[in-house]
Amino acid sequence: MTECCHDVAIVGAGVSGAAIARLLSRYQLKVALLEKEVDVSFGTSKANSGIIHAGFHHAGSLLKTRLELEGLAQFDQLQRELSFPFRRCGILVVALHPDEMGMVEHLWKQGLANGVSGLELCSRERLLALESKLADDVVGGLYAPNGGIIEPYRFVFSLVENAVLNGVSLRTSFKVVNAIHDGLSWSITSSSGEVLRARYVVNAAGLFADEVSRIFGAEDFTIQGRKGEYFLLDRQAKAHPSRVVFPVPSSISKGMLVIPTVEGTTLIGPTADACPDKEDLATDSTRLERILSSARNLIPSVSERDVITSFAGLRPVYGDDFYIAQSRKAPNLIQVAGIQSPGLTASPAVACMVRDLLVRASLQLTENPAYISHLDPQVRVRDLSLEERQTLAKENPAWAQIVCRCEQISEAEIIEAVRRGHTTLDGVKFYTRAQMGRCQGGFCTSRILKIIMRETGLTAGEITKRGGDSFVLEGLV
Ligand SMILES: Cc1cc2nc3c(=O)[nH]c(=O)nc-3n(C[C@H](O)[C@H](O)[C@H](O)COP(=O)(O)OP(=O)(O)OC[C@H]3O[C@@H](n4cnc5c(N)ncnc54)[C@H](O)[C@@H]3O)c2cc1C
Repeated sequence: MTECCHDVAIVGAGVSGAAIARLLSRYQLKVALLEKEVDVSFGTSKANSGIIHAGFHHAGSLLKTRLELEGLAQFDQLQRELSFPFRRCGILVVALHPDEMGMVEHLWKQGLANGVSGLELCSRERLLALESKLADDVVGGLYAPNGGIIEPYRFVFSLVENAVLNGVSLRTSFKVVNAIHDGLSWSITSSSGEVLRARYVVNAAGLFADEVSRIFGAEDFTIQGRKGEYFLLDRQAKAHPSRVVFPVPSSISKGMLVIPTVEGTTLIGPTADACPDKEDLATDSTRLERILSSARNLIPSVSERDVITSFAGLRPVYGDDFYIAQSRKAPNLIQVAGIQSPGLTASPAVACMVRDLLVRASLQLTENPAYISHLDPQVRVRDLSLEERQTLAKENPAWAQIVCRCEQISEAEIIEAVRRGHTTLDGVKFYTRAQMGRCQGGFCTSRILKIIMRETGLTAGEITKRGGDSFVLEGLV
């Protein structure tokens, strides 16, 4: 079936595609957001450090640094509008040896040259005053008060929800496999044979941006995967710092960190290893020792006993910088590729740059007078007082039924997630946090399955962990 022509089709609903879709929804445009997975934010945007970087790690001459700084500046306003979990807790870079202070000073000067405000070169005493859990033998470091932490998938969900509220058409399970330009517009075909037409295309396909570029007959380039593995520590972990703690970086990565998540758990990692298979998200328990010992160098109270799970994300690497440009080969196609770190931080600015490139390619923009910039905050039982919980439960008893005991997530919150289209176990998990606590779904998974079945009419055997053939009960029903 062929639909009427869209103005813009965005391929990929990670944070880049979501931010672009939301920004374009301010204008009177027909926009489609195409995602191969069953839900949004199921690519690199779901598995990263969740840090809003402060603009000192890279040279100002790089595009990614400019966009990082511009993105960083937009997060307070975005949070006011979209109510996603975000906190400017500040970032520390910690030197453990006097030799490392040269690099710390370099980062400080680089940050100042980049125009970062509030950057502070710190003595040992000042660092320990900022973060008392640091190792005793730290020698000094850097403090960037503007850096912060975010729940990355909630950020993407909010961007997409707001974009959809303003008329963007979200098409999940739409894997772009073919594209033909007839001189006026693109006909884009999905793996299931659907055809969607669009005058302009944005390639924001993350790890697969090279493949999508080839599908459109655009530039030939390669995106390489670089794996980052993490361990997640329980909410009760003594090591939970109040700020993001970085070691002094190496030439290929910012090093292994200790990160307080915005939800109160602690992340340690990531590693940085080349990964030729772009679907390989396996974690390796032998890396635990390496991650733990790096983290313990910074915060000695990091304990193996607090580890509740591990996960991995793949950085989409294209040289050293982002590749954002209008294609020179394919008509009306904008490349948004190589968006490795700080892609989360930069995403609002990436969206602005893409909008400007579309305008340069003659897309006409007219403000949408009906544009709604705000989303209602998501109600979370865990954050409510007993009185507030009781009031909600009087209206709807599902608010009083706790489904996920570790994270205190109510039945009403699970229902809300499913009704908003998050019908896989992972979709519910990322939307609500149910299954993310100490027991990792041991208590709540069967309850969540029942709610999904009731709300969607799916049978137990049809429910998947994350779409495709990841059936949860395969072989059991
Ligand atoms: C270990 C690690 C740590 C990181 N830490 C940070 C951090 O702390 N702060 C920060 O700012 N950044 C960080 N990043 C970077 C950040 O996560 C990425 O820059 C960002 O998530 C990239 O988003 P994206 O939308 O470009 O790609 P993705 O999130 O991968 O989205 C691309 C989407 O395109 C879809 N797609 C692919 N092919 C097709 C097709 N043919 N048809 C339809 N859809 C398709 C995919 O399914 C996917 O959903 C980190 C990354 C990693 C891996």
